[in-house]
Amino acid sequence: MIRLSAITPSGHVQLGNYLGAVRRWAREGTEQDVYFISDLHAMTTSHNPSGLRSLTREQLAVLVAAGVDPHSVCVQSDLVRELGALTWLLECTCTYGEAARMIQFKEKAAGRDSVRLSLLTYPVLMAADILLQGAHEVPVGEDQTQHVELARALAKRFNGAYGDVFTVPRAVTPPTAARVRDLSDPTRKMDKSAKDAAGVVFLLDPPDLVRRKIGRAVTDSSGEVRYAPDAQPGVANLLEVLAACTGGSPRDLAGEIGGYAELKSLVAEAVVEELRPVRERTQELLADPAELDRVRAEGAVRARERSTHRLNAALKVAGLS
Ligand code: AMP
Repeated sequence: MIRLSAITPSGHVQLGNYLGAVRRWAREGTEQDVYFISDLHAMTTSHNPSGLRSLTREQLAVLVAAGVDPHSVCVQSDLVRELGALTWLLECTCTYGEAARMIQFKEKAAGRDSVRLSLLTYPVLMAADILLQGAHEVPVGEDQTQHVELARALAKRFNGAYGDVFTVPRAVTPPTAARVRDLSDPTRKMDKSAKDAAGVVFLLDPPDLVRRKIGRAVTDSSGEVRYAPDAQPGVANLLEVLAACTGGSPRDLAGEIGGYAELKSLVAEAVVEELRPVRERTQELLADPAELDRVRAEGAVRARERSTHRLNAALKVAGLS
């Protein structure tokens, strides 16, 4: 069984990426799985080439430092030729109406005079990511299920029209994924591309900065430590982060904590300790470019070996070779 998931280098890795995705890939992933840095997806809005290169490197280092099996890790653009070819086949399978119906496209394009064409077509590239690797399961949040459904529809349509080449993937929603919210505005999820970094704990933030950000987290005026996500979203977020780091349940933890100052100090220490080994190992890897290059090159070879036959079969049945 192959599971496939990705992180986009559109910003520095934040606590939500770590608790909700990367830590999970490290704990539950197998070497059959594919976890990749989706640098091609980071180009659907204006991007800075050197920034993209260095964020890609940082994310690769974080994945390896967090303990994700290096055999399952790769960088998307290392397969750009294969993905470009398959994207074309899939664009010739997808209709304009299907692409234009994607909710994320509508949301991101709304109110803008001009958007990159790739914002419309990137779900087809995502389908190529999934189908090239023969993934069975794609763990995603609600916002991405429609894109996995598109990949499913394209796999079925292509197989039906030309021959059985692709595994039909399915979206899975991980049951207890931590959903970490922005510390300054707990109505929004923590996001690496947030305009204001005050409410975002980045994995590479030094411990004192992590403590300061958590110390300033928005709570409420009730003063009571209860787990009530609707009425007290800020406090609930802190309890969820504490639970994700220490293993307890947010509700049980709430009963053991006297006030907001104590809560924030417990959360800050738990987060600092949770992130410390990953941060330190990431910094070591970033200081050792040869090791990172080696991991990246091996990941590319492996991802290509696992997938080229599928691309070749697709080209053949479509009448191209
Ligand atoms: P991204 O590159 O931001 O699309 O996210 C990479 C992974 O991190 C995806 O699996 C997301 O679901 C997960 N993720 C991003 N932000 C959060 C968050 N605030 N809480 C939990 N998981 C998150």
